Amino acid sequence: MNTRAGRLARDISERFQLGQPPIDVEYLVSQLGVDQVTEADLIEDGRMVRSGDRTNIIVRAGLSRERRRFTIAHELCHVLLADTSSELVATRHIIGSDEEERFCEDFAAALLLPWAWVRSVAYNRPQTLHSLRVVSGRSNTSLASACVRLNEVAGWQRSLLHWRHDGSTWRFRWAAGLPSGFEKRIRSAPQTAPLLDASDDGGDMMIRLVIMVGGQQRDVPAQISVRRGSALALTQLRE
Ligand SMILES: [Zn+2]
Repeated sequence: MNTRAGRLARDISERFQLGQPPIDVEYLVSQLGVDQVTEADLIEDGRMVRSGDRTNIIVRAGLSRERRRFTIAHELCHVLLADTSSELVATRHIIGSDEEERFCEDFAAALLLPWAWVRSVAYNRPQTLHSLRVVSGRSNTSLASACVRLNEVAGWQRSLLHWRHDGSTWRFRWAAGLPSGFEKRIRSAPQTAPLLDASDDGGDMMIRLVIMVGGQQRDVPAQISVRRGSALALTQLRE
């Protein structure tokens, strides 16, 4: 997490009196001088386009509401960074587009899931799927974003894994909140699909989940929720 991105998000939130989540990103769009938010078939989630004195944000058609909000917040950060007249971004040390991308991701997370708010909601709550749904539901952010942010600011050490049933078997789709070194190393093990099948529609339950981490099979305690072709597992991969 970039602390300057967090500070910028806090400054913006105070200046425009955004208050507590859910943060009104559409309001911020108008306050920051963006003319239009439109949808298009993009490969990436969003894009900021300036032509003449017009600034538009384009978001990929078909995004979930939560992902759309995060994308707009991310693009608003590009708008702020591109505005050389703004005194809000006092120092611009950003070099290279990769660094700017990470900065804008951090800004969006800090804006939609403010540090103090996340900590107050997480206070005394167990590290469970239910708590994750509370944070994500109250902030209109995705479960994935909420998990990453809880790890960052509330002392969680949880990873969220997602599978979708494609009609024949469970396909691993994504993981969020992975410890460093685990990125792109999670896969299903042969026992994963039967385990998910056995937990279908049982509400939130604790199981020993079997997955592949790198080339190695591991079984980890996980709280899982399986229903309607979607499976979520909240687990701790590093002891
Ligand atoms: Zn970007």
